[in-house]
Amino acid sequence: MAADKTLACRDCGAEFVFTAGEQEFFAQKGFSDPTRCPACRAARKMERMRQQNEAMSAPMGGSFSSRGRDRDRRGGRDDEYDYDERPRRGRW
Ligand SMILES: [Zn+2]
Repeated sequence: MAADKTLACRDCGAEFVFTAGEQEFFAQKGFSDPTRCPACRAARKMERMRQQNEAMSAPMGGSFSSRGRDRDRRGGRDDEYDYDERPRRGRW
């Protein structure tokens, strides 16, 4: 079992606890250790959401969300190829 870690926030320098449970969660998701305290992380998340909203209303923006959509679409296409091949094999 991992032990709780005390980390220093990169933004405000405050110490915060990176608990064993959080470490497990981060490892499962493939994330690296957090560099900011929960307060700064929440502030940055708010900032990112505000930027995304601005990007969505701007005609040239939205590259962050459209990239995710492309990945989903590509995954769907791969599934369709599998289904196309199956009936062809069944005729033999
Ligand atoms: Zn902080």
